[in-house]
Amino acid sequence: MKHLCPVCGWPELNAPPYDEARNGSFEICPCCGVEFGYDDAARGQTLEQTRARWIAGGMKWWSTSRPEPKNWDATRQLARAASANDPASAGPLVAMVGDRCEEIEADFTAERMQGIWDREGNPHGIDIRPFGSARAFLASGLSAMRMFNRVLNFRHDEVIHLEAILAYYSAGGISPEFEIHPHDGCEMVFEHLAAHGFRQTGFHAAFVGVSLSPQAIPGHIVVKPVRTPMEFESFLDAYLRGWKVDPLYLPGARANMEFWQRCPHWRLYLAEMDGVVAGVGIVFLQKGAAYLTNAVVLDEFRRRGIQSALIAARVRDAAAAGCQTIYAHAAWDSANHRNLLRSGLQLCYTKALWGRAG
Ligand SMILES: [Zn+2]
Repeated sequence: MKHLCPVCGWPELNAPPYDEARNGSFEICPCCGVEFGYDDAARGQTLEQTRARWIAGGMKWWSTSRPEPKNWDATRQLARAASANDPASAGPLVAMVGDRCEEIEADFTAERMQGIWDREGNPHGIDIRPFGSARAFLASGLSAMRMFNRVLNFRHDEVIHLEAILAYYSAGGISPEFEIHPHDGCEMVFEHLAAHGFRQTGFHAAFVGVSLSPQAIPGHIVVKPVRTPMEFESFLDAYLRGWKVDPLYLPGARANMEFWQRCPHWRLYLAEMDGVVAGVGIVFLQKGAAYLTNAVVLDEFRRRGIQSALIAARVRDAAAAGCQTIYAHAAWDSANHRNLLRSGLQLCYTKALWGRAG
C-alpha cells in the first residue's frame, strides 16, 4: 500500500510517514524532499510551515534520481491530497495556497494606494491600516471605488476588531466591503457581519497555477512590456478607456497612475492587434510569485484572444524572472475567469463579498 506525503500530497510513499507515536519513518519524499522525522517536527517546523516553504519555493520536484512523473502537476496533487485527507474540508487549495494568494493581492493593493497616498496633500484621503492580520484599505475621497475601500484577510481572529474597523471607516464616511475567503471559523465572521447590517453581495474567484506550460500567442497579436514614456501614455489611454473611467475623472485618474511606471515590482503590458492597442494588463512580481491583475480589453477587440495573450505573455515573463507560481483573482464566471482556466490556472477558492445595502 502506498501512503500520502502530508507536506506535498505525493501519493506514493512506501511507508506511513509517521507511526502512532508520531515517530517519523525517515523516508524522504521524492517530490518535496522532506525527510519525515528529520526535516519537520524535529526541527521545530509544523507540517503547514514545511508545506508553505515548499509552495513558496515554487512547488518544485525534489529528487534528481527519481524524475517527476510525466504530466506531473503540483497544484492538482495538492488538491487531490487535501480532499483525500479530509473530504469535508471546504476548499482544499485554500488551505494550501490561500494565505499567499490573499497576501499578494493585499500587497499589490497597498503599493497601488501608497502611490496615491504619497501625492502632495493626500488629495483622496488614502489610509491603510492593519487590524490583527486583516488589512483595511480606505480612500475617503474615492468612495465609489470598491477596490480602494475594502477589508482583506478578515478572519475569525479579527472579529474582535470589527467595531474598531467600522468606526475607522465611518470616520471617513465610507461603508467598506469585506472579502472573506473560506477558512475555519468563517461562519462566525458572517454572523458578526450580519449583526452589523452586512450581507453577502457577491463572489470573487481566486486562481493559482504552478509551472504552467507556455501558451502560444497568435502571430497577429503582440504583447509587450511598457518601456518608453510614449508606451506608458498608450497604456494609460487604453487602461482608462477599457475600465470606462468617467471623462470627468480622467485628469485625476492619470495623476493617480503616474507613479506606475516607476514601481520596481510591477510590469505593465500593452497588447496590440495588427499594430493597434487592444488591451493592457499588469503583473506584480513578489517573492518568487506573480500576481496577474488589472487586465482589460477594449470593447472593439473583445472575444479575439487578447485576454489570453495578455495572460500568456505575463506568465512567460514571470517564469523568466523566476516566478513559477501565478496567482490571480477574477469576478466569478467573468470572461477573465474563463480565460484564466483556459490558460491552465486552477480555481483555488471563491471569496464571499460582504457589504451593506445601498
Ligand atoms: Zn512530499
